[in-house]
Amino acid sequence: MNTGSGAPVSIVEVAPRDGLQNEHHIVPTDVKIAWINALSRTGLRRIEVTSFVRSDRVPQLADAEIVLAEIDRIPNVAYGVLVPNLQGLERALVHRPDAIALFIAVSETFNQRNIGASIEESFARFTPVIADARQAGLPIRGYLSTVIGCPYEGVIDPGKVAEMAERFMMLGVDEVSLGDTIGVGTPAQVKRLLDQVSQRVPVTRIAVHFHDTYGQALANVQTALDQGVCIIDSSVHGLGGCPFAPGASGNVATEEVVYLLEGQGCRTGVDLPALLRAGGLVGRILGRPPVSRLARVPLESIWLNPGKIWNHRR
Ligand code: MG
Repeated sequence: MNTGSGAPVSIVEVAPRDGLQNEHHIVPTDVKIAWINALSRTGLRRIEVTSFVRSDRVPQLADAEIVLAEIDRIPNVAYGVLVPNLQGLERALVHRPDAIALFIAVSETFNQRNIGASIEESFARFTPVIADARQAGLPIRGYLSTVIGCPYEGVIDPGKVAEMAERFMMLGVDEVSLGDTIGVGTPAQVKRLLDQVSQRVPVTRIAVHFHDTYGQALANVQTALDQGVCIIDSSVHGLGGCPFAPGASGNVATEEVVYLLEGQGCRTGVDLPALLRAGGLVGRILGRPPVSRLARVPLESIWLNPGKIWNHRR
């Protein structure tokens, strides 16, 4: 089954980048590589593996070069990376990523504090990055963060999100990922947001990126699916959080998104038990139980919907 837009649903696994950059513990490089290799073999098709930001800003991802260079590259899996600027892109290109992503906040204050640049400066910075990424033949994703609420500016106007999403597309990105960075949005707000954004950007080019701070993430994913969105960002075990949102419990969990999708007949191609096992590899290092509820179900008693929707390889 496809979504309302008719396009098949794709999941973008963001745990190795977005998940880890928001965790306190630094995961050793060899563990990280083994973990990404395991995630690569679960049927996931898109994985954002790291970020080429300054290592003094994000020490969790200081090993970006080694990770991208040394992970196994499974055919039909696209390995993306985040780059903040041209310098980051140049570092990344040496190790041949399959896609790049850029990042900007809809909230001017958040952008200033998080990136140290105004929205105008950020967009200006993107122009040469997009040109060079295009030259390298790479697909480009544009992240828009704080699309519903901002810790500094409060409620965000969906009209402003729509304008910035359109501007991003005009600059040359292939898709825009709408991030509820602090996880405050509800389905009604997500619907209003998508109503506005989809007037300016084709719905097949919109991804959604939800955090579960207020327990709304899965409901928000379903709302987006109902609106025709077919690209869902998620993080195995619900890894991640947000330094700007006290108590933030992390990104929506990939296993719960897979379960939600398969439960409505939408084939993800993801092997759920394999995904849960892969998630566990790094969970032990972080020294805490998974945030996701599904990941707490013992593997041997995972519910298999009638018609068996994932391979059972134990
Ligand atoms: Mg996130």
